[in-house]
Amino acid sequence: MRKAVWVDEVYQGIVRTSFKLKRRLFKGKSSFQTVEVVETTGHGRLLLIDGMTMVSERDEFVYHEMIAHPALFLHPKPRRVLVIGGGDGGTVREVLKHRSVERCVLVEIDGLVVESSRRYIPQTAAALSDKRAHVLIEDGVKFVAETEEHFDVVIVDSTEPFGPAKELFGPSFYKNVKRILSEDGIVVSQAGSPFYEISTIKNLFRITNKIFPVVEVCLFNNLTYPGGLWAFTFATKGLHPVKDFRPARILTAKMRLRWYNAGIHAAAFALPNFLKAAIGR
Ligand code: SAM
Repeated sequence: MRKAVWVDEVYQGIVRTSFKLKRRLFKGKSSFQTVEVVETTGHGRLLLIDGMTMVSERDEFVYHEMIAHPALFLHPKPRRVLVIGGGDGGTVREVLKHRSVERCVLVEIDGLVVESSRRYIPQTAAALSDKRAHVLIEDGVKFVAETEEHFDVVIVDSTEPFGPAKELFGPSFYKNVKRILSEDGIVVSQAGSPFYEISTIKNLFRITNKIFPVVEVCLFNNLTYPGGLWAFTFATKGLHPVKDFRPARILTAKMRLRWYNAGIHAAAFALPNFLKAAIGR
């Protein structure tokens, strides 16, 4: 009997998640990071960046539905959406389910992530070939500082706040995001684990709270990220994600959604006491 082989994600040096490996499909090094795609026995294909699980075919729908739909159903008529990071294409796929969206610009710093996702994980990357999708391989920090284009929703689907992603968690980036957001603009940002990265959530909340009139934290569970509970910050130019949310919009949209619904939307903004205390609520 062949000995089982595992692919391990060691997280913060204190917790390890192992996925039973079927075969390694790709490993490459860009000027930013190491990108891998592996086939697993129980979680489909995984995209890993510097050994950290980014996407698993088995549960990516949760993350990508939750990073996109609360904002796109809150905004009265989202037409132009900017996704920063998200080179696997899953967020773009969910954004383009909204018929009102005319243009979705993806700004991903590492072309190797897009190429390997297109080749090995079509489940998420196929959306990048949609005629409404426009893929730019460049730094999101630079893009928001220089673009004259305006967007209804900005989604920051980035890696953790180090390396190329570090400045995506800083005040000047969010001042530029506010500049390019339209009147009812919303920005949703990957903020990490409330259990393992509460300082990231705290900092992001503090920074965006100084720049935007409405800032909330949105939680969701998922299978493959350490701790199984993850957070987004949710900042707007005025709309409140719960008070201004119209559940009927989901019903009329008749969209194929496997996780997100009106009840999940409302519950996602209800926070546990330890997180409320951390963000001063
Ligand atoms: N869902 C994942 C998570 O929660 O960590 C993120 C997925 S996506 C693959 C993260 C992407 O952010 C990576 O492909 C990385 O190259 C990209 N990224 C990091 N810094 C960036 C920057 N400054 N501009 C654009 N993309 C960036």
